[in-house]
Amino acid sequence: MDRIWSGLADLIWPPVCPLTGARVSGHGLFSPTAWSALTFLDEPACHVCGLPFAYPGASGSEAVHACAPCLARPPRYDGARAPLAYDAASRSLVLGFKHGGRPEWVDRFAAWMAMSAPDVLAQADVLVPVPLHWRRLWARRYNQSLLLARALARRTGHAVEADALLRRKPTPSQAGQSARSRRRNVAGAFFVAKPESVRDRRLVLIDDVLTTGATANACARQLKRAGAKSVYLMTLCRVVRTSDATI
Ligand SMILES: [Zn+2]
Repeated sequence: MDRIWSGLADLIWPPVCPLTGARVSGHGLFSPTAWSALTFLDEPACHVCGLPFAYPGASGSEAVHACAPCLARPPRYDGARAPLAYDAASRSLVLGFKHGGRPEWVDRFAAWMAMSAPDVLAQADVLVPVPLHWRRLWARRYNQSLLLARALARRTGHAVEADALLRRKPTPSQAGQSARSRRRNVAGAFFVAKPESVRDRRLVLIDDVLTTGATANACARQLKRAGAKSVYLMTLCRVVRTSDATI
């Protein structure tokens, strides 16, 4: 019976590649063109923020594998990981997901995220999605970070604390803004509504894209003030060139 229903569903709602729109053999699958367009991140990378290095020791030191920005200005979060580089391909994936994406894509995204940081997930107690302000949530209908967190939790069995961290003010769109103005925009934007759900716990903050880290830093600051033991960040993609940080 299930087979008949899924066959009918495929007729009405045929499986297409989330990136190219080409027909694929099953829901949540990608076309070969999409696979070659996406850039998956790998070692060697900054042990703090996950920024890929061109070659081992590219940080200038064999001993400390942190990138120059992390050494100069350590982030408030303890580390960041992402499976994909933020580029033209992953950008259209994220935009499609944000604005009316199909729910089956999120399971694939969560699978990539889970593979990108098994060590971070193994030591985590709870997943905390980066919140949207209610007004933006109202307009968009769902919070893509919460969808990612829930999909990840289905794989790993972690709890998701969706109401622990809330957004107090609707920050303007961060697109096209410098790191400095992003930091200004998000200063004071977040607060911990349920301290008891983060206190003495190891948290993984979930978001779709890491650009300058301003949002993640603002969230991590509040979570640590509320007593979180550690705050790691996991995103679907991350900017790998500073010239892309204003996307
Ligand atoms: Zn780094």
